[in-house]
Amino acid sequence: VQTQGYDPILPGASLGVMGGGQLGRMFVHAAQAMGYHTVVLDPDTQGPAGQASDQQIVAAYDDAQGLAQLAQAVAAITTEFENVPAQAFTALGKLNRVAPPAVAIAIAQDRVAEKVHFQHHGVPVAPFAVVDSPESLQAVAPTLFPGILKTSRLGYDGKGQVQVANLQELQRAWESLKQVPCVLEKRMELDFEVSVVLARGFDGSIVTLPVQRNIHHNGILASTLVLPGSIHPDVEEQAVHVAKSIAVATEYVGVLCVEFFVLKDGRVIANEMAPRPHNSGHYSIDACDVSQFELQVRTLASLPLLQPRLHSPAIMLNILGDLWFDEDSDEPRHPDWATVLSYPGVHLHLYGKSQARKGRKMGHITITAKTVEVVLNNAAKVAAHLG
Ligand code: ADP
Ligand code: MG
Repeated sequence: VQTQGYDPILPGASLGVMGGGQLGRMFVHAAQAMGYHTVVLDPDTQGPAGQASDQQIVAAYDDAQGLAQLAQAVAAITTEFENVPAQAFTALGKLNRVAPPAVAIAIAQDRVAEKVHFQHHGVPVAPFAVVDSPESLQAVAPTLFPGILKTSRLGYDGKGQVQVANLQELQRAWESLKQVPCVLEKRMELDFEVSVVLARGFDGSIVTLPVQRNIHHNGILASTLVLPGSIHPDVEEQAVHVAKSIAVATEYVGVLCVEFFVLKDGRVIANEMAPRPHNSGHYSIDACDVSQFELQVRTLASLPLLQPRLHSPAIMLNILGDLWFDEDSDEPRHPDWATVLSYPGVHLHLYGKSQARKGRKMGHITITAKTVEVVLNNAAKVAAHLG
């Protein structure tokens, strides 16, 4: 770990972020709250982060001129999504301070590389096979069925994934995915899912957010529960230990999220990592004394990292574009935010996306309360209202 040349960047300076989505928007909010100026690089002029940022460079992620302009304008650069070309981040790293390291992004954006990386460092993963040729397809072990075929690159929110029960279905699924390089993963018997968000500084210090439990619908995160005492301490300990070991093995700097499967037999295995703040860590804005986005600012700026403290039990509900369409008639409609906001402990976050589409993440709600019982109660009411 390098500490030399990584002096603190103090408020008043400018911080840059690659990507203009909601994660960039919340990074911008955190940076501005602390007195930093922000510059977003994003080709979309209407994006969630660009709307909030002091400045936006409108350019493609691999546009050399745009990248040079960004590097010129700020004291350090981070990213808000992993599909920024790794080469672009490597190029930025030659011009300015970046976090996370480009190599971590390169690993996280490629499922095959990610799994190989995990295995190499002794991190348990679901049994898998690489499917990148007709031969490799024919050679998959029958024990991998039923399985999930996932594209190695560019998948998110369950996109680029097909459930397959046998070789024949696998063949069809691979064709439907245009025969791009894929991973066939054995479908595991999940008890539940958790994730760990951590921050690691240039000096190697690590802090972690509380372990959160995640509920997915159709491959998309639906809700996150952070209810003290609800996860067995052994599970929490294992997940935190593995997440930290991945961060160290990757020489990671910045905010990292590792998703885990907790199996019916009690084993905790790693699913994937995200080299950035994560949807499952959004509750930290309202329920912790430091949010994952402030941690991203602090790591990038080489400011002290202190162990976050959960001050309220919390439940996060994702708001998808489906809410903008009537369930029965499919007619466009507007969610009734006034009623949602009439419940105690509701924190509404909307990302400023102009167009609602089904399955698109439009915002989230975090519900906090003094006790687990009350937060469960109020979240159930809000969820029932949202339908
Ligand atoms: P994404 O990049 O879209 O988040 P994931 O690999 O995390 O893709 O898969 C999304 C969700 O699908 C997971 O959170 C989990 O609920 C389910 N899933 C994925 N892989 C498996 C598996 N091997 N066994 C059981 N469920 C899985
Ligand atoms: Mg995932």
